[in-house]
Amino acid sequence: MIKEHKMYSVICDRCKINAFENDENIAWESEGSAWEMAYASGWQKIKGRHYCPGCYEINDEDELVVKVGVRMYWTPGT
Ligand SMILES: [Zn+2]
Repeated sequence: MIKEHKMYSVICDRCKINAFENDENIAWESEGSAWEMAYASGWQKIKGRHYCPGCYEINDEDELVVKVGVRMYWTPGT
């Protein structure tokens, strides 16, 4: 038989890139492991949303903030 599995991936709330787009596994079996893998490649959570390394920065107060302005593409593994 063929069974459907629910999988999770992490999408950037700003540029909509999939954290695992260029990886062998584009999704994971739990939200936790999906986030762990994204976090390991530099992703961050800001106010409950998820952002790729190209979409956040650290401001003068050492806080993580979402970048404003033109979207920048981030390539996994760079
Ligand atoms: Zn992004």
